[in-house]
Amino acid sequence: MTYRGRFAPSPTGPLHLGSLVAAAGSYLDARGHGGQWLVRIEDVDQPRCVPGAADAILRTLERFGFEWDGPVLVQSHRFAAYEDALDRLRKSGAAFPCGCTRHDVCNCRDGLKGSAPRSWRIRAGEHPVEFMDRRLGRFSECLLETSGDFILLRADRCWAYQLAVVVDDEFQGVTHIVRGEDLLDSTARQIHLQRALGYSTPSYLHLPLVKNGLGQKLSKQTYAGALNVADPVPELEAALRFLGLDPPAGLSVADLWRCVGAK
Ligand code: GLU
Repeated sequence: MTYRGRFAPSPTGPLHLGSLVAAAGSYLDARGHGGQWLVRIEDVDQPRCVPGAADAILRTLERFGFEWDGPVLVQSHRFAAYEDALDRLRKSGAAFPCGCTRHDVCNCRDGLKGSAPRSWRIRAGEHPVEFMDRRLGRFSECLLETSGDFILLRADRCWAYQLAVVVDDEFQGVTHIVRGEDLLDSTARQIHLQRALGYSTPSYLHLPLVKNGLGQKLSKQTYAGALNVADPVPELEAALRFLGLDPPAGLSVADLWRCVGAK
């Protein structure tokens, strides 16, 4: 079987235990299938990116023993590809310009009616998008009722995550996506875009989220602590345990990966 997985962090801050679980989950699944595993830096939301964070993330992944295949793809180098994709969606009539501000309810799908274009959106389909998550089972979502017509190019000229992720997964030949459950509600939008662009749809597996003592998902907003690169073993052990593995204590990073079959 051809298997190509990926870890696609946004450089908005340091990696935390939740990111490590997502990285380790996709890495183990890829290596367990004899597949390739890629790393992509998702820095399209430039106002949220932190200078130096992308390098820090790559150094952290190295310290935690991850070995990726091929060069790291950086989304800020890929704007021409996103422009081409938007162009195709414009020409097919799937994408339309929108003149609404963030607070308006968008009703530009039938024309701008005099307002100036600010952003570009894709028409949500009337039919439900159905997909199968390898852990959570079957989903069906009618985008008209959930996201509505969603953004592809924002008014501040930033490319939307949904477009960039779909264009790059196709470009990199990604066949299997393993990521945190916080992204489950993006999946139907991504499949809708894949279909509109004539791409194939990868298989999806959404992992449970690591929560803090207050039951909140670990994130920058909940002040999740940065991974400790000076002492990676305890956090790698914790991430592997969270994923249901039970490595013996006292191993090095390389031996931990060997012991769980990733090397
Ligand atoms: N860049 C996204 C994030 O850091 C992940 C994208 C994905 O795995 O599809 O939340």
